[in-house]
Amino acid sequence: MQLLGIKECDIHGKKVFIRCDFNVPTDDYGNITDDRRIRSALATISYCLDQGCAIILGSHFGRPKGEMDEKYSLAPVARRLHQLLKIEVKLAADVVGESAMKLSSELQCGEVMLLENLRFEKGETKNDPELSRALASMVEVYINDAFGVSHRAHASVAGITEHFDKAHKAAGFLLQKEIQFFDILLERPVRPFAAIVGGSKVSGKLEALINLLPKVDKVLIGGGMAFTFLKALGYDVGNSLVEDDLLDEATNIMNEAKRLGVKFYLPFDVVAAEKFAPDAMSRLCSVQEIPTGWMGLDIGPATVRLYRQVLGDVQTILWNGPMGVYEMERFARGSNKIAHFVADSYATTVVGGGDTADLVQRIGLDEEMTFISTGGGASLELLEGKILPGVKPLMK
Ligand code: AMP
Repeated sequence: MQLLGIKECDIHGKKVFIRCDFNVPTDDYGNITDDRRIRSALATISYCLDQGCAIILGSHFGRPKGEMDEKYSLAPVARRLHQLLKIEVKLAADVVGESAMKLSSELQCGEVMLLENLRFEKGETKNDPELSRALASMVEVYINDAFGVSHRAHASVAGITEHFDKAHKAAGFLLQKEIQFFDILLERPVRPFAAIVGGSKVSGKLEALINLLPKVDKVLIGGGMAFTFLKALGYDVGNSLVEDDLLDEATNIMNEAKRLGVKFYLPFDVVAAEKFAPDAMSRLCSVQEIPTGWMGLDIGPATVRLYRQVLGDVQTILWNGPMGVYEMERFARGSNKIAHFVADSYATTVVGGGDTADLVQRIGLDEEMTFISTGGGASLELLEGKILPGVKPLMK
């Protein structure tokens, strides 16, 4: 997929709007606890500064209900941007109101301003044409660098693009990199190509699994979703997470894998627990011996060994979804072990966003992966084979 790239766009000395994803985690005191998303946008912002642009940045932050709410102000982000860019970052008091319009009209080349939280406007999530028009009216060029929201048809992501012709809109460096990695992964991976798919439910990853099957050589299943497949094979999985309405679908997927010659692996031992709690009584057992009423909350050591062996010869690994309830220490071991194999592997390793990125970062392996996506939902939609509404208008 070829995108209109920022480098091919004549932005020199122009006023540009960069849609970023500054939706960073904060603590109870409003301090930013992880500024990776802000840092990820710096390449594009710095490039625009070097090109002598006047820069208007926009982002959402949290889930305000379409109105001003101090709790969701982008003020902490403006301060962090100032520290990182080492230049003043003016924060507008609103999105397209008096303050934003005045600041933007006075903005000079080489200056940066940040609009208040885009979701303070009700129209943002409704892709309201009026809001798109107002945002577009402030600038000459539109740049999307917010991969994490590019699967959303929102005013600052989708609607706004209609106000710019192909010479005046582009994908920023982060968005380009994300799309490029998934493009290579899905269209021309170096083989053998293995997908490790975990997480809570089959339903959340069903479309991705169906789309991936014809493209991969091996699928390794973990997490809660494994139990729907195991039950479909006739195992009694106790109280483990099962989607009974998807048993037929699970069987179809396994049959399709067989038909395509794709190796499809399921866990054969688990860490079973009496209840879903960090201090629950737990034990290792084979999937055939989960005690009545207990539930599987992590893959077991035998499965970890098998998966290591299976990953031994692959050249490309895609990982989406934890192998167990990694948020609870007792059920994090399977995910952590798999993370170490993936990190140590010589293969190209691509980690989906969201929980998988979180678990890899928690154990400090993020630098070891080839690529970690910044968008959980957006990367999943790419794996499902969808073209994202924020990306489509930026295709060549
Ligand atoms: P997802 O959003 O579908 O990728 O799912 C991620 C969530 O799946 C995490 O919060 C995990 O705690 C949860 N999860 C992983 N394995 C299991 C399991 N065996 N039973 C229940 N939940 C699980």
